[in-house]
Amino acid sequence: MSTEAQAVCSVAQSDDFVREVATASGANLAICLQCRKCSCGCPVAARSDLKPHEIVRLVQLGERDGVLASRMIWECTSCETCATRCPQNVDIPAMMDALRQASRAAKKTAATTTVPVFNDIFLRTVRRLGRMYEAGLMASYKLRTFRFFEDMDKVPLMLRKRKIALLPHKVRGGAERKRLFDRAKDMEGKSR
Ligand code: SF4
Ligand code: SF4
Repeated sequence: MSTEAQAVCSVAQSDDFVREVATASGANLAICLQCRKCSCGCPVAARSDLKPHEIVRLVQLGERDGVLASRMIWECTSCETCATRCPQNVDIPAMMDALRQASRAAKKTAATTTVPVFNDIFLRTVRRLGRMYEAGLMASYKLRTFRFFEDMDKVPLMLRKRKIALLPHKVRGGAERKRLFDRAKDMEGKSR
């Protein structure tokens, strides 16, 4: 392929990715000024692999694989600080949401993050019981991630303060919960 053809191809790919993310999230990334105000206020940017303004720029450039395999899209807490600070009202939390979905659909999730594992266990627990069961979640998480001793020093205090229960409590409405989860799955399938 000639250099010119390669350039045209790469512009088309970057346009495709921006459009895909914009359609899924409603965020207009084209108007980003790269002023970095989002990243300066982000509570997790300093410890992540990419900062919010860098993610926006990489999406603009069509760097699909790099973005979808980034740790940052999982470490984002959806706190909305970036969106509040952005002079262009770029909806970065919505963009991160769309990127997380795309990352899972493409099976590109970063191997260095355990957030998707946590999310899976959390949703499974809520679907089954209708509420959180912290001790069960902790046990499943540790078994799946091999982080057996991480944060274990906090357990006695949490038990003493009744922040975690040893036995699960089930909430009524199992059929309704199932309907909600099935509907969410249908909607997820249609949005792909
Ligand atoms: S604050 Fe808004 S305009 Fe500035 S870099 Fe971040 S997304 Fe772009
Ligand atoms: S919503 Fe996400 S990207 Fe934005 S400031 Fe919060 S953690 Fe950072």
